[in-house]
Amino acid sequence: MNLITGAPALPEGRIIEDSIVPARAPWSVRMKAGEMLRVIDIEGQQAVDFLCFGASSHEGQIERYHMPNTIKIPKNLFVGKGSVLYSQFARPMMTVVEDSCGGHDTIFGCCSFAVDELRYGKHNAECCQRNFEREMAKHGLGPEHVVANLNLFMNVPVAPNGDCEILDGQSKPGDFVDLRAEMDVIVVISNCPQELNPAAGGGPTPVRVVVWEG
Ligand SMILES: [Zn+2]
Repeated sequence: MNLITGAPALPEGRIIEDSIVPARAPWSVRMKAGEMLRVIDIEGQQAVDFLCFGASSHEGQIERYHMPNTIKIPKNLFVGKGSVLYSQFARPMMTVVEDSCGGHDTIFGCCSFAVDELRYGKHNAECCQRNFEREMAKHGLGPEHVVANLNLFMNVPVAPNGDCEILDGQSKPGDFVDLRAEMDVIVVISNCPQELNPAAGGGPTPVRVVVWEG
């Protein structure tokens, strides 16, 4: 496949979906175990807020991405090639099998009108919290399921004293992450609309998402 970016050609496999997620917009997809998702930061420095949910409940609960398990099992704060996204049941949901950027943030969660007001004293035009709520509603998931999310392409270094802050993104145009579904999942992303800090490079831009048979 001839991608419009510098990302390598996709491996063999049938393309299921190939979409552009506009700047500031949410997107979601249902994936079967074994299917692959590529997220491409077309212009660079664009945070992509990311959550995944089990397509079926487990032990009577909605299974979902669990930030603490994703950090404490590998004992590392950052997601990159080889990282596993774990659920609250410590079951692998997705695995990062390729990654041209690295250092994806696990701790800062998503932007919201409330935290923008607290941090900056003003409102951004949109926020990831609302994007998540709108997109998850399509799958019957209420706002209580907007939990601490993964932030692809967002740069939040942590100093030895614990200081942490969103700095300019390290992703270059065409940087990408490939994730394999380890169970049937619903992936929900918010292409971060933030304009009050560097999460979206100061100006939100589109990203590309491709799903294919692994
Ligand atoms: Zn955001």
